[in-house]
Amino acid sequence: MSVHLGTTDRPLRVAIIGAGPAGFYAAEALLKQKQLVCQIDFFNRLPTPYGLVREGVAPDHQSIKAVTRVYDKLAAGTGVRYFGNVTFGRDLTRADLKAHYDQLIYAVGAQSDRKMGIPGEDLHGSLPATIFVGWYNGHPDYQQFQFDLTHERVVVVGNGNVAMDVTRILVSDPDDLAKTDMADHALEALRQSRVREVVMLGRRGPAQAAFTTPELKEFGELPGVDVIVDPADLELDALSVASLAEDKTAQKNIELLRAYAARGRSGAPRRILMRFLASPVELLGEAGHVSAVKIERNQLVQAVDGSVRAQGSGNFETLPCGLVLRSVGYRGVPLLDVPYSRGSGTIPNIDGRVIDEEQGTPIAGEYVVGWAKRGPSGVIGTNKPDAAATVVSMLADLPGLPGAADDADVTALLHERGVDYVTYADWKRLDAYEAAAGAQQGRPRVKVTRVDEMMAIIRQGRGA
Ligand code: NAP
Repeated sequence: MSVHLGTTDRPLRVAIIGAGPAGFYAAEALLKQKQLVCQIDFFNRLPTPYGLVREGVAPDHQSIKAVTRVYDKLAAGTGVRYFGNVTFGRDLTRADLKAHYDQLIYAVGAQSDRKMGIPGEDLHGSLPATIFVGWYNGHPDYQQFQFDLTHERVVVVGNGNVAMDVTRILVSDPDDLAKTDMADHALEALRQSRVREVVMLGRRGPAQAAFTTPELKEFGELPGVDVIVDPADLELDALSVASLAEDKTAQKNIELLRAYAARGRSGAPRRILMRFLASPVELLGEAGHVSAVKIERNQLVQAVDGSVRAQGSGNFETLPCGLVLRSVGYRGVPLLDVPYSRGSGTIPNIDGRVIDEEQGTPIAGEYVVGWAKRGPSGVIGTNKPDAAATVVSMLADLPGLPGAADDADVTALLHERGVDYVTYADWKRLDAYEAAAGAQQGRPRVKVTRVDEMMAIIRQGRGA
């Protein structure tokens, strides 16, 4: 039976769990195989597709979202179906999918966040940046959150591009944000915001910052915003000077940071303070709400593995603030019955083949792509070669693969379980609804942020 998989007589049946960039690039790589006939079904928890392109990419970065045109083309093509509003582990289990599909691809990203592990982290007013991002992007899981923007100062912990996004959004002019597809509830809250200063804390030096130069450049272009960098923070130690020689991004970052340091304060109404070699060691509170961050000054040391690490110097300061957003990385969460590596927060794999960690051997027919495979790193485009590499493993495994036992279409099972799944045509109805609402306001779209509302619009559309 296995020899016929991937032919017109017996197309290869692939289930992709998660309809974000990594999942779409895996589908693209499969569909590119001229000799392979395959049927790809996407299963996505939310009714809406595109994962972090819709719910992660900052609303003032609309051009990045244009990548969905490629995904749309794939989803609308033959051999691909979309099943939104289907929760893996509840509506369909791993066993269900294994019965119906020859190969499964987990493309679920990293749904949670890392913690700092310091006292006071759970005080009110201390939240992960991932939630703030989901909130301003209209992710249904976070639309009910409230962020206290009544204080003048917010502290953002971390020096990655997510930290850059949330910092920029906090000091941007709401009138500019109102031209984007930012969620209406966030726009409303930001219009009322009294935040005037965002302090970004990098635990290591400017030469080790994870952010990229275009994002740093954007800081300097924000109207009404001063970017403040202490020139003393840019005096590089020997370790940084050595690492800089081979790091073009860091070189450009330092150049730009020097220009910001030279520019100084103009008295603009809002400020971004970029601090380096500074770690939060405790969040202090009043009446259960964060009121200040205790910060330790760091120095850089070389670890035995050669990496440059931050080490506390024993010098502390206290910085009052009303909101702390930790932006120290995303983290994967386990899927029901699917191997999970607690250390890395990923699905353990070798070349994209999911492995049974105890045995250390691949599990036949199960694969992983994207952040669930390699951890939360890289830009959207990074997922393309990453997914293509997993597809190479999938194709190599085809000859020995036993085909799925159950030839019945999965829709029968979904109907039987009363799952009101969202098809691609359904999504296009919701998409058109959002775009039409946006057009009235000169915006790309007005996002619907609640699943029940999304489903009501979709059901109405089906009936029309
Ligand atoms: P990231 O790039 O891994 O940055 C995480 C930051 O958190 C680093 O500066 C890290 O410092 C710091 N950190 C970690 N643990 C810490 C702790 N305990 N205390 C203080 N700081 C700590 O992660 P991210 O910003 O979440 O971004 C995830 C991925 O998405 C990245 O690849 C990013 O480039 C990408 N992204 C891209 C864009 C864009 O292209 N515009 C936008 C958003 C996200 P160390 O370096 O010292 O560990």
